[in-house]
Amino acid sequence: MQFSLPKNTDISIQPIKSFTDNYIWMIKKNKDAVIVDPGDASPVLEILQKENIHLQAILITHKHADHIGGVKNLIKTYPDVKIYGPKNNFNFTFNEVANNELVVIDELNISLRVIETPGHTLDHIVFADEDHLFCGDTIFGCGCGRLFEGTFSQMHESLKILSRLPRSIKIFCAHEYTKKNIEFALMLEKDNEDLIARKRSLKNVDITLPSTLSEELKTNPFLRSKTLAQFKERRIRKDNF
Ligand SMILES: [Zn+2]
Repeated sequence: MQFSLPKNTDISIQPIKSFTDNYIWMIKKNKDAVIVDPGDASPVLEILQKENIHLQAILITHKHADHIGGVKNLIKTYPDVKIYGPKNNFNFTFNEVANNELVVIDELNISLRVIETPGHTLDHIVFADEDHLFCGDTIFGCGCGRLFEGTFSQMHESLKILSRLPRSIKIFCAHEYTKKNIEFALMLEKDNEDLIARKRSLKNVDITLPSTLSEELKTNPFLRSKTLAQFKERRIRKDNF
């Protein structure tokens, strides 16, 4: 399936660090914001209040606590916030969205396409426009999410779908795992020049994201798996790395 992706202009994206290695991404336009996967409310509230920004919407990629744990407290401060997430039994009110639906956020005049990517969990979805992919725990810098619920085949398909998005799309992953993932990838492809260059370029970098699809296609061993069998073998090896 080919997804037609909307174009959003004049937005800025910034990471909000939470827990040990999570990123909560903030999409900002003027004084309005959308937050992706708020596992914790306090670092989000801190930045919203400091910069006097109004929270208009929350996007949820999947059910894990480190992605939704802050939602209830954000609702207390912003009772009108609109929440979009996958089909699931969340204990807060939200708009359920499914494959190929468009999430329109009028306050920021932006819209994002929903793409279902089962694998890490069965409910996993991602949100994309032409230039930005908020991929939760489906893709990581040089890696992919563990399979908690889905099958190898489901995850492999999900990664193939995302591989067909525009090469220049920026990838906003929910965890900072890139450097460790590069070490694993180098074990598989020690002569991959792009991988060696990526490692070198990140040496003194703290926040390694966003990356781009083009960069991941050259270096990410899971997007580079040629067959399902190879994907499966790599995923199992990574679990024990
Ligand atoms: Zn997760």
